[in-house]
Amino acid sequence: METQSYGLEAGLYIVAGPIGNLGDLTPRAAQVLRLADVVAVEDTRVSARLLRHAGSERPMIPYHDHSAEGVRARLVERMASESVALLSDAGTPLISDPGYKLVRDARAAGRKITTLPGPSAAIAALTLSGLPTDRFLFMGFLPAKQKARGDALGEVAALRATLVFYESGPRLSESLAAMAEHLGDREAAVSREISKAFEETATGTLAELSARYADAPPKGEIVVIVGPPGEAPPPSAEDADAALREAMERLPVSKAAGEVAKKLGVDRRALYARAMELKG
Ligand code: SAM
Repeated sequence: METQSYGLEAGLYIVAGPIGNLGDLTPRAAQVLRLADVVAVEDTRVSARLLRHAGSERPMIPYHDHSAEGVRARLVERMASESVALLSDAGTPLISDPGYKLVRDARAAGRKITTLPGPSAAIAALTLSGLPTDRFLFMGFLPAKQKARGDALGEVAALRATLVFYESGPRLSESLAAMAEHLGDREAAVSREISKAFEETATGTLAELSARYADAPPKGEIVVIVGPPGEAPPPSAEDADAALREAMERLPVSKAAGEVAKKLGVDRRALYARAMELKG
């Protein structure tokens, strides 16, 4: 690998920026922004502010995954001998932001690739929500059209995972109502303006939160976190009796109790006692 005179090894540097508070730019990220030969950005006006904050005077190039193929190819070419930093308007590049195709092509070309980890609104909101974090699915922005939105929600409704959505204020109430309809009225959290002056997190069920924001769409940037589906409610005594009676027609009492306990997810000994009562 060639080493560049500017002090950074040639290759691609994926640089996470702040999601609001400039103080969240890491010192290492700031250093890369000062030393890179070129900084690929979404919007030069937005990134100019961060570069000033980092004390960087390096040149910027606008880059989107839908930029002409030639733009991406030239950047990948430059990575052979120069350091290219990739920066988003906010947070971590590639997370609902450009960069995936650039990383894909840089990898295919065998370039050195490294990342400077930092803030992402999805993870920040997850930590604020008070909802389970052991298993989560990042959903990004839901489609705007009703049918496509319903389909996207339907695809994940059965997953036992916390769901993470990016949203905008004007669409918030309607999206929360659609989530309640397709996912069930689960526990949820709406976080907005994380790390900024008016940071706020509201919690409640999806229907409650939808009602809360219906007449007052919130300003600023928003993440919605939706908890996993609840446990199935315990079977009623009548349903358990019916299942036991049916099983006892085919099986000895203890086997019938075992089968029904497994099927309904209830205690086998209690079912056995009830089966003996029914038999008597
Ligand atoms: N790459 C970014 C990241 O790592 O979080 C996300 C970019 S995406 C285009 C922008 C969306 O992220 C916003 O519409 C909002 O949903 C969410 N977002 C960004 N900053 C936020 C903040 N400070 N508070 C809440 N949500 C934020």
